[in-house]
Amino acid sequence: MDAVQPLTQTYDVALLDLDGVVYVGAHPVPHAPEALQRARADGMRLAFVTNNASRPPERVAGHLTEIGVEARPDEVVTSAQAAARLLAERLPSGSKVLVVGGEGLEVALREQDLVPVSGADDGPVAVVQGFSPQVGWPLLAEGTYAVASGLPWIATNTDPVVPTDRGRAPGNGTLVDAIRTATGREPVVAGKPEPPMHREAMLRSGATRPLVVGDRLDTDIEGANAAEVDSLLVLTGVTDPIDLVMAPPQLRPTYVGLDLRALQLLPEVLTVRAGEATAGDWHAVIDDGRLRLTRDAAGDGGGGEPGAGGPAPGVDDGELDALRAACGAVWAAADSAAPAGTTGGEAVDRASIQAALDAARITRASARAY
Ligand SMILES: [Mg+2]
Repeated sequence: MDAVQPLTQTYDVALLDLDGVVYVGAHPVPHAPEALQRARADGMRLAFVTNNASRPPERVAGHLTEIGVEARPDEVVTSAQAAARLLAERLPSGSKVLVVGGEGLEVALREQDLVPVSGADDGPVAVVQGFSPQVGWPLLAEGTYAVASGLPWIATNTDPVVPTDRGRAPGNGTLVDAIRTATGREPVVAGKPEPPMHREAMLRSGATRPLVVGDRLDTDIEGANAAEVDSLLVLTGVTDPIDLVMAPPQLRPTYVGLDLRALQLLPEVLTVRAGEATAGDWHAVIDDGRLRLTRDAAGDGGGGEPGAGGPAPGVDDGELDALRAACGAVWAAADSAAPAGTTGGEAVDRASIQAALDAARITRASARAY
């Protein structure tokens, strides 16, 4: 690891999750457009990687451009593309595939010389299912007939919910559950955290040293760890800081940053690692199963106690150090308390972690309703 260069020059491609990282619905995440422009100027290539299969790359790139993030269609990688590649590797060119989904899947199938159909009696040799707001009972019934007949069944992803302006709504995972319950079968899953999505992003971006950037531990970060690729967790989406501190090994990122401006920082000020319980002027210790966070008096002009005379609420760089120190201490305690393969999350009292984070004023950069 070159510790003297920022992330933009340590890695060749950023594999960027979208919702909660680049945008939130119709709006860009604060600082995202400028940070991505700077990353490009530094020579880093960008790939926009989404589990959402409903829109084809042109529409995703169009939406990004509208909100001020320059993006080309060939920089967008969707779970529909990953699913279509899985099918193309198993089926002869020209094969018919039943689509329980929408335009995004249809475009991805055609790109692989497969033929989308919409009925179980139209001669499909496989079923692919991905989110679309147009999926209703008649299409779920067609999918159920085809899956029950024994055809291969691929799901783009199994995220249970999709964010909407009005809150959580049923996502592809919920719709997959309908066919799973009706047939007793299990689909092959293409999207994060499963390997096909990552492979698709690597193939399309030509990355040799990628950095996965995401806001979710159980899709973005778990997927990166499964692929043994470094990852950056940003705090602009769904992950609450305490979830990071309580995370079992397979959900822990290489780095944590406030938002995409972290791409311009050096790896050493973003690294989170079990056992590294000092970060900046913050120290974390586990004392009788409880987390304690302290700060050197010299660090910020005198406030020896966390929160005393500190900065305005929200996470500043000093507080990010507090979070990194907390992770280093809690992860080490959890790992030494738990046999390999189990979660050691109870090794440190959860309430004490929350209290320490609150005292250090560590909060998500932007609170989300889902
Ligand atoms: Mg996300």
